[in-house]
Amino acid sequence: MLNPIELYEDESLESCLLRISQNNYYDSFQDFSDEVWFHVKEEDREVRGTFPATLNTVNLYHSHTSSDLKLKALIKIEQWLEINNFPLLKSALSRSSNTFLRQHSAVFRNGVDIPRILLRKNGIPVCPECLKENEYIRQEWHFITHDVCTKHKTDLLHHCPECKTSINYQESENITDCQCGFKFSDHLTPQANSNALLIAQWLNSENTKLANVWGEHQAISSRFGVLLWYINRYNLTDDFSTSFVKYSLNWPTNFYSELDEQIDKAKTVQIKPFNKIFFNEIFNRLLLDCRHLPTREFKTNSILSHIYQYFLSRYQIQPNSGVFSILLSPLEASTLLSCTTDQIYRLYELGFLKLGVRPKLHQKIASHQSVFTLSSIILVKLSNMQSSQDELHHYLSAW
Ligand SMILES: [Zn+2]
Ligand SMILES: [Zn+2]
Repeated sequence: MLNPIELYEDESLESCLLRISQNNYYDSFQDFSDEVWFHVKEEDREVRGTFPATLNTVNLYHSHTSSDLKLKALIKIEQWLEINNFPLLKSALSRSSNTFLRQHSAVFRNGVDIPRILLRKNGIPVCPECLKENEYIRQEWHFITHDVCTKHKTDLLHHCPECKTSINYQESENITDCQCGFKFSDHLTPQANSNALLIAQWLNSENTKLANVWGEHQAISSRFGVLLWYINRYNLTDDFSTSFVKYSLNWPTNFYSELDEQIDKAKTVQIKPFNKIFFNEIFNRLLLDCRHLPTREFKTNSILSHIYQYFLSRYQIQPNSGVFSILLSPLEASTLLSCTTDQIYRLYELGFLKLGVRPKLHQKIASHQSVFTLSSIILVKLSNMQSSQDELHHYLSAW
């Protein structure tokens, strides 16, 4: 049996576990972890491994293979607390089967996929005002996308104002105080940067002006997808909030101009004719990087739908421009048509997709081999516009 504590929906698993262990007078999280593990092992002798003794590896996504062991331990704690509905399991970050752009792995919580790369690796900042109200750590403070408190509209505190140490409750096993004795709730944090606040609110599902740009009904996972795509495309590391908000407010005109410039540049520097140029020679990983954001459907992937809109708008003006004879790989084609590469091969066999190069006899086209003309891909998409569904896999009859 354990003394119960109040658990909060937006609390991180590590914070829950730390508070449970402290509320039950364990000297350290390790002592608590050892005891949990001892009982789990007693009940199930087959179970292998150990329950992590440190907070920074306790979450489910840290497991390389199965997280069964950790799940059993969390269920054991829930039994001891006599609580139902698995609040600890719900607060865990598990490994997601989804990925973002270049195979970035994702964690999953409460129906949302979050790129793992956006999780803070070292310190976890806090909001002094939140700690004044309730002494627990919110999950969102673990994300680099959240530099402000959306509730109090203030900056998060990253370093102890007294001794300048990076704040990290997972290491110090102390949520409210620094090791030097400073109480974080005594600190007065400045008003939040308005752009950082806009981003945090948008990612918390609020419909700020960013939602007007990227879609009011856009899923949170897709919002994380847009932001990761932006950070990756423009190679940003730390301060992306101001530039991202500015970028969003000029979307998609700024993006279309960039693509226009890439075509203009190709016209001046390329020595080959367009029908010999690969899509990736002009646009690099433009299509491959929006293949998983984390979906590939136009309705939920606004970057991808705008890329298609861009090519369509240019095609409407100048369908015979040489640009439309550039060559795409099955992977790129399947991204632009939001379908699988198998469906691309099928479309090719049925004669819908045209090859811009002569294939070698009896050789299957490799998924990365640039062979299909851009115009034939646009035409396949256009020929299905009458359909009520906008995704390709609905167009072709089942096979
Ligand atoms: Zn706060
Ligand atoms: Zn300190």
